[in-house]
Amino acid sequence: MVVLPVPGALCRECRLCCHFTEPGVLTPWAARPEEGESLPAPFRPPSPIGLRPGLGRMDLPVLVCDALRPERDRCGVWGEHPADCRLYPLVLVHRDGGFLLALDPDCPFALRETPAFFRDFAERFREEEWARITPEEADRIRTLARGEDRPHYRAILPLPEPERSRLA
Ligand code: SF4
Ligand code: SF4
Repeated sequence: MVVLPVPGALCRECRLCCHFTEPGVLTPWAARPEEGESLPAPFRPPSPIGLRPGLGRMDLPVLVCDALRPERDRCGVWGEHPADCRLYPLVLVHRDGGFLLALDPDCPFALRETPAFFRDFAERFREEEWARITPEEADRIRTLARGEDRPHYRAILPLPEPERSRLA
């Protein structure tokens, strides 16, 4: 299981993650009501998660992942949290006809490390987790990944299309 080593102190200062301004922007796919059980295993948490109203930075109203434990400001399913959380600031997008891991430069951690650093983790995800995704599962997340892309995200590693013939 690949987890980007974002320092806890940096996240506690930043507090952008796990708090969202829109239900469909960078929210874990598993927290979107219409997705649920249909997601591939790496993107499914051990128990269902959702979004609830809460407060973000400067007490602005936001949506908060209900797996977040506010008393400790920690993820309640840490270690088994979904791949889209574990990989961030890498984001799985679908661009120019293919899947791609891209870097969101809005995360302060994205600016602290080199592209090679993020490429290493992206390659590990490709080998350890993406390699188990079936063509049918890839089809189920294609639209989600397309909607995740933003023009300022930097391409890090293209991911191969799972081969239908491999499993036939
Ligand atoms: S945006 Fe980056 S630094 Fe901020 S909370 Fe998320 S992972 Fe941590
Ligand atoms: S599952 Fe955990 S890491 Fe992911 S948004 Fe929820 S609280 Fe944050």
